[in-house]
Amino acid sequence: MSKTDPDATFMRMKEDHMGNGQLKPAFNTQISTEDGFVTNYSIHQTTTDTTTYQEHMDAFKELHGHYPKESIADAGYGSEENYLFAKENDITPFIKYNYFHKEQKKSWKNDPFKSSNFHYNKDKDCSYCPMGQQMDKVGERTTRTKTGFIQRVSLYQAKRCTDCPLRCLCHDAKEERIIQINHRLKDLKNWAKELLTSEQGLKHRSQRPADVEQTFGNLKANKGFKRFLLRGLEKVEIEFGLLCISHNLAKYSVNMAK
Ligand code: SF4
Repeated sequence: MSKTDPDATFMRMKEDHMGNGQLKPAFNTQISTEDGFVTNYSIHQTTTDTTTYQEHMDAFKELHGHYPKESIADAGYGSEENYLFAKENDITPFIKYNYFHKEQKKSWKNDPFKSSNFHYNKDKDCSYCPMGQQMDKVGERTTRTKTGFIQRVSLYQAKRCTDCPLRCLCHDAKEERIIQINHRLKDLKNWAKELLTSEQGLKHRSQRPADVEQTFGNLKANKGFKRFLLRGLEKVEIEFGLLCISHNLAKYSVNMAK
């Protein structure tokens, strides 16, 4: 807990002149933008972006009376919980996930030993390893995330790895290889991948940095907003809201002048 501001969390700031990362009291600020205008903002007391998504979307709904039709975000927001939330609320998620870019590479696609490349038979609920061995389901694992969301992972195990000629390339565990599949997440990621690689997805992906990132750039670099002047969540929310309003008004006046 920060004694300067008990409402703040600690976040890693940019390095100092000696190259050391700085851990300082901070709030996690999130914005939605459209054509460079801030359409929603929210302030969070968590360090990771993933857990801010739903709260941010709820704030959008409170402000506009509905969820956005589409949501474009980087890999920091691509989680099972967030995809599911988007699905349940009719939001089309152009949201990347970890390994989205790596998965597109030939080296990833052509690696037969990556468990994600193993063939899965839905009817028999089993997987097949590169030797063609059937890997039967041997169990399930349930985990609860920090937000209380339940994730289910199925485990599939090979039967005879000992004499396999591919063993040295496949794995170095003492026992037979076990792979984990989160079926729901796999389906949600496939959905996101389909969206992200569509014509609309490519357009959104190229537009995203020019939209939201340039807005953050304007707030930080042009307006010189590097730290909050006020303390406490409530006041910080107001301060950031005023900053967003000033950004929108300045942008509007420039557009009008044009
Ligand atoms: S080491 Fe085991 S899992 Fe890997 S290819 Fe051989 S039999 Fe299949």
